[in-house]
Amino acid sequence: MFIISHAAHGYLAGAAIQSRYSVSYFKLFLWLCISFSVFPDIDGVFSPTVAGHHSVLHTPIFWIIACSIIYVLGRKYYPTKNTLIALGVFSGAFMHLLTDWITARTVGIQWFYPLLKTDYYLYPISPDQGQVSVYEMLMNPYWSFYMENKLLFGFEVGVNFLAVFLIIYNIYKQQRK
Ligand SMILES: [Zn+2]
Repeated sequence: MFIISHAAHGYLAGAAIQSRYSVSYFKLFLWLCISFSVFPDIDGVFSPTVAGHHSVLHTPIFWIIACSIIYVLGRKYYPTKNTLIALGVFSGAFMHLLTDWITARTVGIQWFYPLLKTDYYLYPISPDQGQVSVYEMLMNPYWSFYMENKLLFGFEVGVNFLAVFLIIYNIYKQQRK
C-alpha cells in the first residue's frame, strides 16, 4: 500500500473514535494514528528494493513491545493520557500491518516473527516484481504491475476517497458549530 493510503486509513481509524472522546483527546489520538499508520514504511528509505523493505517495523511483536514501553513510561510522565497515547500508536501501526497484509504485492507480513519467519499475504505475491527501488513505485513497470489486481487497487482508492470525504464532512461540521 502507498504511504498516502496509509495516512488515509490512519485518519479513518482516528475519526472512528471521534464521538467517544473530547476534542483534544480525539486530536491527539488522530495525529498519533495518522503518524504511526505511515511510520513503519520509514524502513523503505533504508532498503534498496520494494520487496526487501519489510524490516522489524513491519512485525506485530515490535509494536506490542514498543507500545507496552510507551504505556509503562506514560504512566509515570503522562498518567492521564498514557492509555490514549499507547492506543493511538498501536492502532496506527497495527492498521499499517493489516493493510500491508491485505494489499501485499511483492512482500507480506511476518505475523509470528520471531517464532516463524513465514511471510503472510492475502493474494499471491510476486517478489521478483519488487526488485525496484521505492522511488520507482510510481513508474512503470511497477505501477502497471501494482494496478493489475483491480480489487486491491480499488480498495486502496476507496480508502483514500472515504478519508477525503470524511475530512470535508468534518470541516463542514466544525464550521457549522
Ligand atoms: Zn508498509
